Amino acid sequence: MTLITRVLNGNLPLRLSTLKAARQLQCGYSSHAKYAEHKPIERIRNIGISAHIDSGKTTLTERILFYTGRIAEMHEVRGKDNVGATMDSMELERQRGITIQSAATYTVWKDVNINIIDTPGHVDFTVEVERALRVLDGAVLVLCAVGGVQSQTLTVNRQMKRYNVPCLAFINKLDRMGSNPYRVLSQMRSKLNHNAAFIQLPIGVENNCKGIVDLVQERAIYFEGEHGINLRLDEIPQDMRVESQERRQELIEHLSNADETLGELFLEEKPFTEADIKAALRRTCIKRTFTPVLVGTALKNKGVQPLLDAVVDYLPNPGEVENLAYIEQEGQEKQQIVLNPARDGKDPFMGLAFKLEAGRFGQLTYLRCYQGALRKGDNIYNARNHKKVRIARLVRLHSNQMEDVNEVFAGDIFALFGVDCASGDTFTTNPKNNMSMESIFVPEPVVSMAIKPNNTKDRDNFSKAIARFTKEDPTFHFKFDNDIKETLVSGMGELHLEIYAQRMEREYGCPVTLGKPKVAFRETLVGPCEFDYLHKKQSGGSGQYARIIGVMEPLPPSQNTLLEFVDETVGTNVPKQFVPGVEKGYREMCERGMLSGHKLSGIRFRLQDGGHHIVDSSELAFMLAAHGAVKEVFQNGAWQILEPIMLVEVTAPEEFQGAVMGHLSKRHGIITGTEGTEGWFTVYAEVPLNDMFGYASELRSSTQGKGEFTMEYSRYSPCLPDVQEQIVRQYQESQGLGQPEKKKKKN
Ligand code: GDP
Repeated sequence: MTLITRVLNGNLPLRLSTLKAARQLQCGYSSHAKYAEHKPIERIRNIGISAHIDSGKTTLTERILFYTGRIAEMHEVRGKDNVGATMDSMELERQRGITIQSAATYTVWKDVNINIIDTPGHVDFTVEVERALRVLDGAVLVLCAVGGVQSQTLTVNRQMKRYNVPCLAFINKLDRMGSNPYRVLSQMRSKLNHNAAFIQLPIGVENNCKGIVDLVQERAIYFEGEHGINLRLDEIPQDMRVESQERRQELIEHLSNADETLGELFLEEKPFTEADIKAALRRTCIKRTFTPVLVGTALKNKGVQPLLDAVVDYLPNPGEVENLAYIEQEGQEKQQIVLNPARDGKDPFMGLAFKLEAGRFGQLTYLRCYQGALRKGDNIYNARNHKKVRIARLVRLHSNQMEDVNEVFAGDIFALFGVDCASGDTFTTNPKNNMSMESIFVPEPVVSMAIKPNNTKDRDNFSKAIARFTKEDPTFHFKFDNDIKETLVSGMGELHLEIYAQRMEREYGCPVTLGKPKVAFRETLVGPCEFDYLHKKQSGGSGQYARIIGVMEPLPPSQNTLLEFVDETVGTNVPKQFVPGVEKGYREMCERGMLSGHKLSGIRFRLQDGGHHIVDSSELAFMLAAHGAVKEVFQNGAWQILEPIMLVEVTAPEEFQGAVMGHLSKRHGIITGTEGTEGWFTVYAEVPLNDMFGYASELRSSTQGKGEFTMEYSRYSPCLPDVQEQIVRQYQESQGLGQPEKKKKKN
């Protein structure tokens, strides 16, 4: 019985012929919900659901999967049934109730295939968010009707802007005490700068939450029956007619400002049809000039089906989004190619691996197909290393269940088994075209911590965990520091590393201890410095002889996280076979600077000349010569320390502006801009990460808990002289040295 109701009311247009319904039922719901492999492009949506933690993203996803008939039962997040939400496949997430890792799942709503790419919400997981956003065509921004625009909302909003992702807003939790969707809308305008307006209104909030008014179609929708699966359409309640008229007018005004066609009708005072408004909503939403705002409560099963309608009606299909690939050849300018989204399989296949996951099915690689088609048995090539991969199995995922498919087309999201690659890699069927998709922006890790398994017997599991995490997450790094005999992990923030530590314990039975967080400073040269170094050793055995001459110089500030090595030698003074030894020696030395023990970066090593000995020269000798040369430059050159600078965005009520600005400048922040509307202000600043520890609690106490901030890595920049001096002093003391050698020499 439930099945009949669901098919009739949940998943198909309300009026359905009896014959069709009977056929659906005979097939059973699994075949009803079967993902058609070759849908026309208009019938595909790739969407993400983004939100501040606890806004109800997981619950909403769960409801979406339920109403679309993909799962038979609903599980409450942190519910009594101990099953956990289907999307949260990791145990830790289940415990915390937050979603950390992306997973892709699909479903079908009104004959449209919807791929839902689950985006993680925390600021420390920006790479995962960015990777996921890269493959989306549209998104649902979930906001809590009580909390409104929160710190994470600001971050995901900025990311959607960066990747130009059109979005719908869904104000969830109407049923909560203190819920106020009107305030949330005004925050969306003031804090997020969205041209937004309601396309729905709540019929009652808090305990009185009955249903919603659809402002476009001018009707009321009630969610009845078990889990609200029956939609009952009715007239707008008497006491809401005036308000609905006003809000509809407001919607039309906002839309007219953003849409020429509707704007003309508006100016000519012509009547609007429902179709006019819908078309304008679609055009402006795709262009990101207007954000439709929907309301509901996922937990109380209200508003989810109309949200799905809006996803289909207003978010773009893969053919409405431009995707580019690049052709890069040495010495030539990067060429841009617009990929063909047609689902006819005529163009060569292009796909981007956006997520690797080692789970219970083995190693899975999630890809999005951007062009052409891919069939079982095809061969594809990794554009980065030209490795060939044969496609033995193609699968699609519904949470943690898997379904085999025979072929995929442009716009589809799918997964492959056992492919050795990194996330961000491009795959293509034509290895010669040298095309690769835009590579994903991967920030450098900015914080590191010492890590140690609590029990030595867990060493094996520890290594397995590290191997998996570093492969899945390019911002998570690991190294053993031979000098201090410590293992270090580095990443995008304290929480980032703490989550991995907890996953090691939970998933690998390997409890670990983390040390204090350390900022990843860098050392670089202030100006060019020449070297001429001779490495000569003759005592016992075969001798060693290598001489190298050249210059080490700083790279431009935009490249200050890179290292370069250039061989400019002519002739045979430095035999070509020994050049790699020089580069190796140079790069080894860059691992640990002599000023503060941090890595060197932003340096070019130009090998210009040198000398060798017919018997005593070897690659090893040249490597040691490079060590000596870098030491020489350390002594003779002028060095400085670089530190990570973060983009900080603080939003708070106006009365706290003075205090917030004061605190930011005390932390050596440079204010880059301010904005303010409707009683709130937002300040943008660049602040050294080293000065940001403890900022969350300072902001809380100075704004009565109302201020929020987000922080994102921006670049490396030279430290202030006193900070540099302090870092150098601490390092020298920790090494048991009084003063830096260099200073002694000068004195
Ligand atoms: P996520 O962190 O954004 O994925 O949020 P969850 O879906 O895990 O929800 C966080 C908490 O809010 C859970 O306890 C949910 O039961 C609860 N929640 C989700 N949606 C609603 C809603 O519409 N109303 C109320 N009152 N609670 C909700």
